[in-house]
Amino acid sequence: DQTTSSLLYLNGVSVSFDGFKALNSLSFIVEPGELRAIIGPNGAGKTTMMDIITGKTRPDSGEVFFDGGKIDLTKKDEAEIAQLGIGRKFQKPTVFESHTVWDNLELALNRKRGVFATLFYSLSSGDKARIEEILETVRLTHRKDELAANLSHGQKQWLEIGMLLAQEPKLLLVDEPVAGMTDAETAETAILLKEIAKTRSVVVVEHDMGFIRDLGVKVTCLAEGSVLAEGSIDFVSNDQKVIENYLGR
Ligand code: ADP
Repeated sequence: DQTTSSLLYLNGVSVSFDGFKALNSLSFIVEPGELRAIIGPNGAGKTTMMDIITGKTRPDSGEVFFDGGKIDLTKKDEAEIAQLGIGRKFQKPTVFESHTVWDNLELALNRKRGVFATLFYSLSSGDKARIEEILETVRLTHRKDELAANLSHGQKQWLEIGMLLAQEPKLLLVDEPVAGMTDAETAETAILLKEIAKTRSVVVVEHDMGFIRDLGVKVTCLAEGSVLAEGSIDFVSNDQKVIENYLGR
């Protein structure tokens, strides 16, 4: 049964704003360790779907379960959902510009313990090793002593992904990571997200079709609040409804 085997399970989720159906009986399943791409036109409901998963918005109807059906996310608030292991990266990077790359990661690690905005909590050798590991993952080892302000836009995005990794999420939601990146950074981001998805599930919302193709994973195309097509990029990009509603626009 898909409720108990999946990491994230949305079934028949609907939500309206002033009578406008932003999500219309949306069903969406993410397996443990899966990397999934979400595409769709503006207003399709992609952000609203993320808001439902993270508890920012409550559905009017439908089911939202996490961790093999064990946790009903509609009964949890945003802080609880973050603690349960769902991390979200918004489009704009929000790193601490006046701190070094290392300190940003240290702050993120301390935040996981509930120690807010302090660098006075001494790190164990295990913590230091974890920070080194995250630096490798997000390609920032050579810049660890640099102020975050001096990073390129792409590197700031990677640092923020690293800060989310410090919280050890089971599911990472990533909103338009490659917007504004150079071609080289975009290509590297596809590799980086694939590596991250070896140890957790990742859902990435993107418009960059070249990047989506590089990811080479299952794609879900949303339109008007529900799933228009789902499958490989070749399958989805050849779907007549997807061409009419999104790609052909
Ligand atoms: P996407 O992220 O795919 O562009 P959204 O989820 O942001 O789509 O929006 C889906 C629809 O719901 C849009 O028409 C948007 O205007 C509407 N919407 C989203 N959030 C709200 C809100 N808080 N209040 C009113 N309307 C909203």
